[in-house]
Amino acid sequence: MEDSRPRLSLIRMAQAVNDETIQTAENLFREYLRDRGLKYTDERRIMLRTAMRVDEHFEAEQILLAVRGAGIRIGKATVYRTLKLLVACGIVKEVHFSNKQVHYEHTYGQDPHDHMICRRCGRIIEFDASQVVRLRAQIAAELRFHALSHRLQIVGLCEACVKACPVGMQARPSTGRPRRASKARRK
Ligand SMILES: [Zn+2]
Ligand SMILES: [Zn+2]
Repeated sequence: MEDSRPRLSLIRMAQAVNDETIQTAENLFREYLRDRGLKYTDERRIMLRTAMRVDEHFEAEQILLAVRGAGIRIGKATVYRTLKLLVACGIVKEVHFSNKQVHYEHTYGQDPHDHMICRRCGRIIEFDASQVVRLRAQIAAELRFHALSHRLQIVGLCEACVKACPVGMQARPSTGRPRRASKARRK
């Protein structure tokens, strides 16, 4: 039996996106729009480029401000509509870290990753999803399903918060003993 413990590396989504990647994404987006009888307008091009250059998770509002900051007049509705198109096209992905606000990240040209969210400080940790992708393919194959994507979020406490938390709430390596759940924080 091989060691089945996961060896997950923490990664950052923020990889430098080079012009070539942006160019390929643009071609993809242009074709996507053309197939649907939509035009590759200046606004859509600027939105795509702006989204591709953000190296963190972003809200629609941030894109709006960035585009306007570059001196381009753009409406809020256009930003939301274009983001929807970018998501449908597979260049941008929606991520839901809370119930409050949808975040986005550009996934084109990036390695697949999933997220861990700290309930206490809100820190978001990204990790390599290749093992999850393998598991996804296995589960899907067993159920004769063709998987295209998945959404996985691990919610808990980050290392710093575990240290800062009172004893008893700390996540210890499993000892096999049941842990009391009564002290779990309720928000
Ligand atoms: Zn991410
Ligand atoms: Zn934390």
